[in-house]
Amino acid sequence: MGDLLRPFTQSHMRLIVGNVWSGKTTRVVNTLDAYRDRVWKRGSKSWKDSNFLLFKHPNDDPENPGMIGPYDAVETDDPDDLADLITENTEVVVGTGLNHYTDPKIVDLLVAVVESGRMVYGSGTNLDYEGRPFNHMPELMAKSDFIFLLKSICAEKGCTEQAVRSIKSSSVSEGAVKVPGAERWEPRCLKHFYYAGRPDHKPWLVDQMGRLVLDIGPMFSGKSDTLIQRIKSAERSGKRIVVFKPMTDDRWEDGTRIEVYDHGRIRTRNGPEREAVFVQTGDQIRDYLENNPGIREVYIDEAQFIQGVFDTINDAIYQGYRFYVTGLHRDFKRDPFFDVPKLMTIADEINMHRAVCVRCGHPAVENQRLKKKGDMWLPVDYTDPIVLVGDDDYQARCLRCHELPGKPSGPYVFEPYLSRSYRSGIGRGGLNADLLP
Ligand SMILES: [Zn+2]
Ligand SMILES: [Zn+2]
Repeated sequence: MGDLLRPFTQSHMRLIVGNVWSGKTTRVVNTLDAYRDRVWKRGSKSWKDSNFLLFKHPNDDPENPGMIGPYDAVETDDPDDLADLITENTEVVVGTGLNHYTDPKIVDLLVAVVESGRMVYGSGTNLDYEGRPFNHMPELMAKSDFIFLLKSICAEKGCTEQAVRSIKSSSVSEGAVKVPGAERWEPRCLKHFYYAGRPDHKPWLVDQMGRLVLDIGPMFSGKSDTLIQRIKSAERSGKRIVVFKPMTDDRWEDGTRIEVYDHGRIRTRNGPEREAVFVQTGDQIRDYLENNPGIREVYIDEAQFIQGVFDTINDAIYQGYRFYVTGLHRDFKRDPFFDVPKLMTIADEINMHRAVCVRCGHPAVENQRLKKKGDMWLPVDYTDPIVLVGDDDYQARCLRCHELPGKPSGPYVFEPYLSRSYRSGIGRGGLNADLLP
């Protein structure tokens, strides 16, 4: 996919993600500053008469209770409390500390907000102090359309590397006195990241810093073209690399069986091809790399079909391996697609690719699955079996044109948002986050 020539104007989820001290709240506050004078009562620090709803989790920035920077915010850990506050006038829902929500209904709530034509703008820490995905951040990242990864600098003395993990230390001292029970989070680069209970974990002995670059987006968004470009430039530079591809179909076109580690090709629809090694699981990638110790640069196409790929990549990064990976972050039901959302939480770089909606031309972020009935191609039902008898096909569509008949409604359903210009009959309006008061 080349550049898209139309702007993204539909409702969506936008997340600011990063380790501790990476400036997530500052970024949210800067955005609110920009809207305050235009949309809120001039000089007001309150959004209460506006089309915004601000909320935070009580564990987020506890020294500033009830506030996001200088702005008052609803402080709650219960998604039901927030649902009650969303009115027909609410257009933008802004939340911080999303990683602290343990109730999975936070995901349902924010998805219902987006699906009703409103915007979600939120921030959260992607990884906990053991370097694992933080609570429901993978699901939230799977539902996002824009992700901004922020990073701070490693807090280890003398280190100037970018921090991509956070550690929790329990030795907080005030002067010479240790504060019992107090804890402190610090940003760390990969080499200075450690935690108790993982003694075999010694990334500081590794000669190069591991890395994960993700190219994600719906089908037909040009992810594989990007990967092939990356492979070509690595080959030109003379690096030893390997390319993996999932074994989704175990037969060649001539009918012979494909085996794990057989060589095939990754193809783009009309572009070049590159040789690739077939695998089914993350363990097979791990075995291959152990048997080929000279290779430290790894390319993976369509990671959503490789079981256990998250654990393999998450371990290998600490050993200095560099990964370039493509995948779909959500499936045709808009649900998280296996390991890809978890990979998003440990990525150093996320590139969101978009296709063009076949219906309306808006940037497409969804996968529309179709089934053939007679001569007609129809959207599959939510309840259709995963493997359809007969033909199925896919299209790229925008959220508004995406169809999934029979989808059960979640715990929250909001009235569709109609902009003020629509309500007064002058705008094209309707399901557009046009941010007018
Ligand atoms: Zn460091
Ligand atoms: Zn569309």
